[in-house]
Amino acid sequence: MTQFSGSCLCGAVTYEADCEIQRIVNCHCLDCQKATGSVHTTLLFVAEEAVKIKGYPSSYTHTADSGATMTKRFCSSCGTTIFSMNSRRQGAIGIRAGTVSQKHIVKPQMNIFCDSAVASTPMDDKLPKHAKMPG
Ligand SMILES: [Zn+2]
Ligand SMILES: [Zn+2]
Repeated sequence: MTQFSGSCLCGAVTYEADCEIQRIVNCHCLDCQKATGSVHTTLLFVAEEAVKIKGYPSSYTHTADSGATMTKRFCSSCGTTIFSMNSRRQGAIGIRAGTVSQKHIVKPQMNIFCDSAVASTPMDDKLPKHAKMPG
């Protein structure tokens, strides 16, 4: 079990969790590039029920290339995108690693959607690289 917490930039939205981290990925998909304004994002996937959220994040829903419905939850004051959910992975929530306070727990296990990675993005050669989302 890993205990961690985090917040958006302004602190209006905070969260706490004490749970298994299912998977940590560096995602290079075009949607993450747009949603974060950065060339990739790092996501910690955990059980949604394990995350206690304080504050009132807004939601934005869109359809991914896969056809899945994606929901981004972000602070309506400062705009930080904190959470993301995928309709095909019910019960799981992705937490943006940059919002986590305990930086030492952020240990990505793989790079995904490398097909759309920006060429200058450094990647750890020791980590698996997947062209898309692995199963
Ligand atoms: Zn905020
Ligand atoms: Zn992505």
